[in-house]
Amino acid sequence: MAELKVTSWNPFTGCTKISSACKNCYAESLALKLNRWGTSGYDNKFVFTVHENRITDAPPLKRRKPTLYFINNMSDSFHEHVTDETLDRILEIVEKCHWHNFYMLTKRSGRMRAYFRNRLVPANLWLGVTVENKKYGLTRLRDLQAIRTYNKHICCEPLLEDLGNIDLTGVRLVVGGGESSQNARRTSLAWVESLRDQCEQYKAHFYWKSWGTYDQDGTRKGNGKSGCLVNGMEYKSFPIEIMPGLSSKTLPLFT
Ligand code: SF4
Repeated sequence: MAELKVTSWNPFTGCTKISSACKNCYAESLALKLNRWGTSGYDNKFVFTVHENRITDAPPLKRRKPTLYFINNMSDSFHEHVTDETLDRILEIVEKCHWHNFYMLTKRSGRMRAYFRNRLVPANLWLGVTVENKKYGLTRLRDLQAIRTYNKHICCEPLLEDLGNIDLTGVRLVVGGGESSQNARRTSLAWVESLRDQCEQYKAHFYWKSWGTYDQDGTRKGNGKSGCLVNGMEYKSFPIEIMPGLSSKTLPLFT
């Protein structure tokens, strides 16, 4: 089965924790590591920073091969310290690079909703919100659903509780996963099965990335060692058009 192959483009780095999913933020630990190694762009450690050179000289503009870009996987694109004007410049690049697909994932859905109130979402941009639990995730889901655009996804990673019956109207892709970290919280098999079944009901693609540190039975296996099988089945379904250039031989199944 095909896997989503994602390239990151980080005009912003650094962030501020805002909800339960942020507790063991991978971007924070990676940014601190990159700072220790002296990697360029991480002098400010995990303090929110806009990198002008990564906008004026944006890598997607130069790359001719159609690619799926995750915009700001080391930050949050709708962080309170970014201006609408800076976001406009990012969106201009997305529109210009019509041969790529891009996605943004935010925990600041209110800001995203307000930003797009008077703006059109480019057709090659997938908008997404994190839904790790009911407390934070359900409001974000409603904000996402209120935006006028076709390509919407949610990310339930780390999945921290049973989401119950959720309204997935308009959501085309649900990505999920357990937590990978020294202090990882466990994800239960029943929560994943419920999410998978609801995706089927709503005809949304379900892509289960991995279990993270604990496997589906709750056994601690270590980071990246728990695999992705749910009762022996792999769920890696995604809308074909999100992956530019995917060959017909590797078409994802609608599972
Ligand atoms: S919003 Fe994302 S990048 Fe920011 S602290 Fe939370 S998990 Fe980390």
